[in-house]
Amino acid sequence: MGRTRLPDKAWNYCTMVDGKSCHVCCIFCGHTMWGGVSRLKEHLAQKRGDVAECKRCPANVTMEMQEHLIQVSLEKENKQKRKREMLEDMRKKKGQCHSSPQPPPPPPPPQGEVVEEMDEKEKALLDEAIKESLQTHKMEEMKERNEEADLARACLESVQLYEQELLMRQNGSSSRYDYDETDFDIDMNF
Ligand SMILES: [Zn+2]
Repeated sequence: MGRTRLPDKAWNYCTMVDGKSCHVCCIFCGHTMWGGVSRLKEHLAQKRGDVAECKRCPANVTMEMQEHLIQVSLEKENKQKRKREMLEDMRKKKGQCHSSPQPPPPPPPPQGEVVEEMDEKEKALLDEAIKESLQTHKMEEMKERNEEADLARACLESVQLYEQELLMRQNGSSSRYDYDETDFDIDMNF
């Protein structure tokens, strides 16, 4: 506390009671007080509040102690200011860290409800359009598939028919040929 900063000056105006640095006796008025030299300084500086003012302290000592207390309070203020500035810096840095990865918020609509309604309507219309287009697409796909299937079926059928015809012809021709032959043979034989 103050003792380490200003040991000799303040201790010049008091004596310790029972060898305790926290219990001191003013050399001017003999007033004893708890709280060490910091309380003695207030006593000598005529500071009202926590301690009785010294009635016998010389003016220059009072002035000295007042200036000292002002200095101490200024140092305290500076310390607190530095602390506050450090905290503010930390908060700013944290705020920057927080805000930088987040995308900027979308601008608020001027008339929320109306715009929302419009949005919903538009969305519904869009959904319908998408559904319709999907349906038509599906229909078209189905049509295409059907057409393909029809074509394939037609092709298959035609191929089968062709094959059947071929078989029939082969059979028919061969049989006919055989028949013809036999017929011919028979005819020939006859
Ligand atoms: Zn005194």
